[in-house]
Amino acid sequence: MASSGQAAKHTAGAALGRLMPTPGQVATASAPARPRTCSRLAPFGTTIFAQMTALALETGSVNLGQGFPEGPGPELLRQVAVAAIEEGDNQYPPGVGVRELLEAVALHQQAEYGLSYDPSHEVLVTAGATEAVASAVLGLCEPGDEVLMLDPSYDSYAAVVAMAGAVRAPVPLRYDGERWVLPPGELEAAVTDRSRLLLLNSPHNPTGKVLTEDELKEVADVCRRHDLIVVTDEVYEHLVFDGRRHVPVATLDGMRERTVTISSAGKSFSVTGWKVGWACAPPELLAGVRAAKQFLTYVTPAPLQRAAAAGLRATHQLVSPLVEELASNRDLLAEGLAGAGFPVRGAEGTYFLTVDISEVTDEDAVGFCLQLPYRCGVVAVPCPAFYADPEAGRHLVRFAFCKRRSSIEEAVERLGRLRGGGSRP
Ligand code: PMP
Ligand code: GLN
Repeated sequence: MASSGQAAKHTAGAALGRLMPTPGQVATASAPARPRTCSRLAPFGTTIFAQMTALALETGSVNLGQGFPEGPGPELLRQVAVAAIEEGDNQYPPGVGVRELLEAVALHQQAEYGLSYDPSHEVLVTAGATEAVASAVLGLCEPGDEVLMLDPSYDSYAAVVAMAGAVRAPVPLRYDGERWVLPPGELEAAVTDRSRLLLLNSPHNPTGKVLTEDELKEVADVCRRHDLIVVTDEVYEHLVFDGRRHVPVATLDGMRERTVTISSAGKSFSVTGWKVGWACAPPELLAGVRAAKQFLTYVTPAPLQRAAAAGLRATHQLVSPLVEELASNRDLLAEGLAGAGFPVRGAEGTYFLTVDISEVTDEDAVGFCLQLPYRCGVVAVPCPAFYADPEAGRHLVRFAFCKRRSSIEEAVERLGRLRGGGSRP
């Protein structure tokens, strides 16, 4: 694929200096001799999502990078939150969460999956799923423990494993030509006598994969045999397409007792900025999660917890039209990308699909994503950011379709111009 010229190269080159910087290694005349950022976090730099959104704003591009919807969020949730603020619910709520939300989470797990949790002892409200995952890793792992995770994985997992002084142990997902799979034997092969915990994610970011019942059965079998704790991030639990069903790993035989199930309001109810999440687990597992959470944020804003509870009570009413809209956006984007020459690895769920750029360009995904805004005014996310070995994702790019229909249409129109070499709109 041809670049639109030197100017584009120059500007993208400036951006490249910003991509994934390692703050501990940035040397300037006034920089202290010793890096200030601790060595555990220095390698992580600024998140790829923040960087790509900054690039989208800077270039006026359609932002199919960071996964957030463009609308204001459901009226029902906004009204409940505003009313709670106006009524004065503005002081610290209980550390474990407001009763209304604890009960709504327990009811949701029962109604959706037949999973029974006691809202008094087995549910914990957190500052988004991110804090629930962080608290689980920090509260359940010893330094040096190995944390198994799918590879690629959502970016916060590796960072929090590093914060805990634990070790990332990748379990590769592969694309078999038709879909993403967890090949039989891969999980078992990654287990060692230091393995403590499996950090699972389905529906999966960034691939859009939904783990099948057979894959989950094998996961459960390995976890039972090696006595692993499972921390499962199910934030996209309702965002599954084409009649698929999300199966929580905790529903499999012998798994509830070893599993921390995590979700949040952000994706199900299109309020990603609210950061209201929760974890469900038996008391002895939840104790570790709570031990960490109480010293991270301590509590989550009460008005937003009340609104999330209202969302959970209206799950189907809110989620059904969203799933339809997302599936239709996915189809339009996939068609547009395929039309522009990219082999698409279609999404079974989530906000995301991936494309393999290797048939279209010799560039790696980072270089490609840095150029894309200058070539056609679209921002996407390079997948190396999600892999233990960035090389493994060098040809993979993630596009988010959780945007307004008009944004997807505009992006498709702009991507179509790549066929002719691309030019800035
Ligand atoms: N887990 C996954 C897999 C995600 O994609 C995201 C991004 N939204 C999160 C967790 C973060 O969720 P929250 O905003 O509730 O912290
Ligand atoms: N989960 C969102 C994504 O994958 C981003 C969240 C964030 O910016 N940390 O795009």
